[in-house]
Amino acid sequence: MTDVFKLTLDTPTYKGTVSCKTGLYINGEWVKPVEGGKIDVMNPAKGQVITTVSHGSEKDVDIAVKAAQKAYKTSWGLQAPGSARGQYLTKLADLLERDLLEFAALETLNTGKPFSVAREDMFASAAILRYYGGWADKIQGKTIETNETKFAYTRHEPYGVIGQIIPWNVPLLMFAMKIGPALATGNTIVMKPSEMTPLTALKFGDLATEAGLPPGVLNIVNGYGQTVGNAIAHHPDIRKIAFTGSTLTGRKIQEASAKSNLKVVSLELGGKSPSIIFDDANLEQTIKWVSLGIFRNMGQVCFAGTRIFVQEGIYDAFIKGFTEAARVLATQTGDPFGEKTAHGSQISKTQFDRVMSYIESGKSAGAKVEIGGERHGNEGYFIKPTIFTNVKPDMKIVREEIFGPVASIIKFKAEEEVIEMANDTSYGLACGVFTENSSRAVRVAHALEAGTAWVNCYTTVEISVPFGGFKESGIGRELGEYALELYTQVKSVHVNIGLRL
Ligand code: NAD
Repeated sequence: MTDVFKLTLDTPTYKGTVSCKTGLYINGEWVKPVEGGKIDVMNPAKGQVITTVSHGSEKDVDIAVKAAQKAYKTSWGLQAPGSARGQYLTKLADLLERDLLEFAALETLNTGKPFSVAREDMFASAAILRYYGGWADKIQGKTIETNETKFAYTRHEPYGVIGQIIPWNVPLLMFAMKIGPALATGNTIVMKPSEMTPLTALKFGDLATEAGLPPGVLNIVNGYGQTVGNAIAHHPDIRKIAFTGSTLTGRKIQEASAKSNLKVVSLELGGKSPSIIFDDANLEQTIKWVSLGIFRNMGQVCFAGTRIFVQEGIYDAFIKGFTEAARVLATQTGDPFGEKTAHGSQISKTQFDRVMSYIESGKSAGAKVEIGGERHGNEGYFIKPTIFTNVKPDMKIVREEIFGPVASIIKFKAEEEVIEMANDTSYGLACGVFTENSSRAVRVAHALEAGTAWVNCYTTVEISVPFGGFKESGIGRELGEYALELYTQVKSVHVNIGLRL
């Protein structure tokens, strides 16, 4: 048995109870850590502790891996047909939709993101589970003709036990993106949510039980990166690891793989994505997309369009409109449960301080604050939507990932020049191109070094379209059919039908 967190909320957008278990979810049961202790979980909008949850240790990871191994051999993996795995995922999607508002409220409480945004994240999470439920019985290899005496075929087999480590910015959405394809393809999972935002992942444990998921198929071991994360990354019986987080930690995951058992690594890492606005762009639409691109989720989005390149002919009009959009957003900043709130709190004091220090570095390097550049209110960790102009390419605010609501605007003259500037980064996650000239749109989208290029839009991630990074933004592709490749290994079977020695 384990402890339960329960709270009744009476807010403008959510009235009711939120609850979740606070232990570790291993082998289909709630358990206390063998070693480990308690972590405070915060409500960043108030800067207050919500509850405490268990954190595990290397020993707990080991127990979870053993449970996952057993489940893989006895009730999942090659033992459960794809259609059965698909049904479990569909059931999980149904249950999540049933409890969607409570999940959204819990997510809002733990992240400080607007309730409306958390609700969208929950819908998307359920949709992802359903999408991969549909794939589960369509994972097929090929038959390859060689000659009359032999044929060969391929099987796309699961790895076995998979380790998954996720960040705090879209906690349950990231959780769904990870478990959906991994379960559909027949793997079992040891999952570590971010120690800062474990509540919705823990709540999901009860859905797994209710859906009848065989014990050990999904194990949720909350804890710190240096202990639980590190143990997952080094574990010799984990064959593949899927990580989302910072590039710095991504390197450690790669090193751990090299030092342990060469586990297959997929990484979704940071970004410093450019949006490029040409003179002929539709101004009104571009301002809306670019604002969404940088300010959604308080800028805590890996693909946030943080470097905004604007051609000189449209520059003044764009700055005027974009600043106005930020001003309106600033009036919609505050209580994440407020009816009109569109901009909430940063995730933590640490992140708040980090973002504010980038803002100070921009100011002291001579960039001009067009709007924002300061905290909002006195409670919690709110930062006003911030726009810098008079920005130079070598400034820290242009080069480093801020992960906050801070846009840097750079004026440009010509297409060739802007492509070079936009590609002058070690990252390569996403980019946006805004122009009414379709040839130029496609040409520039192809020239930019990024895993996703949006033309006349931004942030429109689709479940069926792969997502991932070029350069130091990652390895591998999540979402869509491509994610199935992340979680399967190909076996070639050669069958002799007449070859004689
Ligand atoms: P982080 O790298 O600090 O932490 C991510 C996860 O890794 C957490 O669960 C953490 O506990 C764990 N971790 C930390 N140190 C570890 C270690 N030594 N070994 C194993 N695990 C460890 O990142 P964060 O601050 O939680 O998230 C923000 C970062 O995530 C940003 O850089 C952002 O761009 C990136 N991100 C990328 C994507 C994407 O899809 N590319 C999506 C969301 C966030």
